[in-house]
Amino acid sequence: METITTSAVSSDVDFDTATSGDGLTLTDWTAEARDLPDFASHERVIRISDTDSGLRAFIGLHDLTLGPALGGCRMWAYETETAAVTDVLRLSRGMTIKSAMAGVAAGGGKSVIIGDPRTDKTEALFRAFGRAVDRLDGRYISGEDVGVSVQDMDWAAIETPNMLGSGERGGDPSPTTAYGVFVGLKAAVRHRLRRDSLDGVVVAVQGLGHVGFSLCELLRREGADLVVTDIDETAIKRAKSKFDAKAVGIEDIYDVDAEVFAPCALGAVINDETVTRLRVAVVAGAANNQLLADRNGEILKQRRILYAPDYVINAGGLIALSLQLTPEGYTAERALSLTARIGDTLAEIFSRADHEGRPTNAVADSIALERVRNAVSD
Ligand code: NAD
Repeated sequence: METITTSAVSSDVDFDTATSGDGLTLTDWTAEARDLPDFASHERVIRISDTDSGLRAFIGLHDLTLGPALGGCRMWAYETETAAVTDVLRLSRGMTIKSAMAGVAAGGGKSVIIGDPRTDKTEALFRAFGRAVDRLDGRYISGEDVGVSVQDMDWAAIETPNMLGSGERGGDPSPTTAYGVFVGLKAAVRHRLRRDSLDGVVVAVQGLGHVGFSLCELLRREGADLVVTDIDETAIKRAKSKFDAKAVGIEDIYDVDAEVFAPCALGAVINDETVTRLRVAVVAGAANNQLLADRNGEILKQRRILYAPDYVINAGGLIALSLQLTPEGYTAERALSLTARIGDTLAEIFSRADHEGRPTNAVADSIALERVRNAVSD
C-alpha cells in the first residue's frame, strides 16, 4: 500500500526538563503515567506548566516507530490532572493506530490543555503551548482537536513550525474528514446492503457540526434521506431548510428506522444501552471512540449491524494534515484522492471480518498493529 512519507525523527531525541527561563517547564511524567490503566506502553508522557500564562497541559507520545508523533491538541475543563493524563493516553494510542491504518508515516501522539475553552483561552496560553511543542524538536506535531480553533493554532504557530491546522497551512481539516466518512459510508452500504447508490437510503446523523453538516451535504447530493439531531437548534433549522432533513430529539436518534446511523458528535454513543436500540444495518460516522467498550462491537456484529471502525473512517483530516509534512505539501486534490482510499481499506476490513467471523473493530485493531510491527521488522 502506498504510504504518505514524512521525514521521520528519531525517538531518541532528548528534551530538557528544566524551566527555560521564561516560566515554561516541561517535566517527564512517564513514570507517573505508568501506573494508570491506560498507559499502553507510551514512549513518553510530558507535563507542561507555564507560570506566566497559567498553561497546564500534557503531551503523550505513544509510539514513534512510523515517524514523528502526529495528533491534535484538545482543550477541556478536566477536573483533575489524572483525568487529563488518562485522556491524553487514550487519544495518543488511538493516533498510532489511526496513522498506521491511513498509510500515514507518522507515530501516535496527542496533547491536552486543562482549561475551559469558552473562558480560558488567551494568546499567551497558546503561545506557551507552541513553545513547549517547539522544545520537543519535531518529535511531536500538533493541530486542532475538540475545543481548539484555527485562531488558537495560529497563535501557537508563531512559536513553532510543528503546528498544523493554522490558517496559513490548510486550516480546518473537517471537509476532508467528511469526505472520508462519505466514501466509507458508501463502502459499508455496498458491503452490507449490496447497494451502489445512496438514492433513497435513510441516514440518521447525530451532530451537525463541522463534519456532520458537510457529510449531510454530500449524502443529500447522492439522494440520501436525512434524519438529524443536534443540541444546537440553529444547526437543526439549517439542516431542515438546506437538506429537507427530518429532525428528531437528542435521545430519539437511536430509535430511528434507517439504513445507516452516522454518529458525528460525541464518543461512547454505542454503549450497552444504545446498542440494542439501533434499528439500522450500518454504523458509519465521524465521532472518535464511538464504542464505549470493545464488547459493543461484538454485539453490533451479533445484531448484523456493520460497524465502520471510527479511526479508519474518520482519518481524512489526519491525511490532509499529514500532507503538510511531505515534500510535495498539501493540496485539496491530493488530500481527497488519498482519502478516497478509506473505502478500499474498509472493504478489506469488512471482508476479513466476514471471513474470520470477528467484529470489524477487532479486525481493524489487528491490521493496524500488524502494520506497526511490520514497520519495525522492515
Ligand atoms: P463540532 O464540535 O464542530 O460538531 C459537533 C456537533 O455535535 C455540534 O454541532 C454539537 O452541537 C453537536 N452535539 C454535541 N452534543 C450532542 C448530542 N448529545 N447530541 C447531538 N449533537 C450533539 O465537531 P466536529 O469537528 O464536527 O467533529 C465531530 C466528531 O468527529 C467529534 O467526535 C470529533 O472528535 C470527530 N472527528 C472530527 C474530525 C475533524 O476533522 N473535525 C476528525 C476526526 C474525528
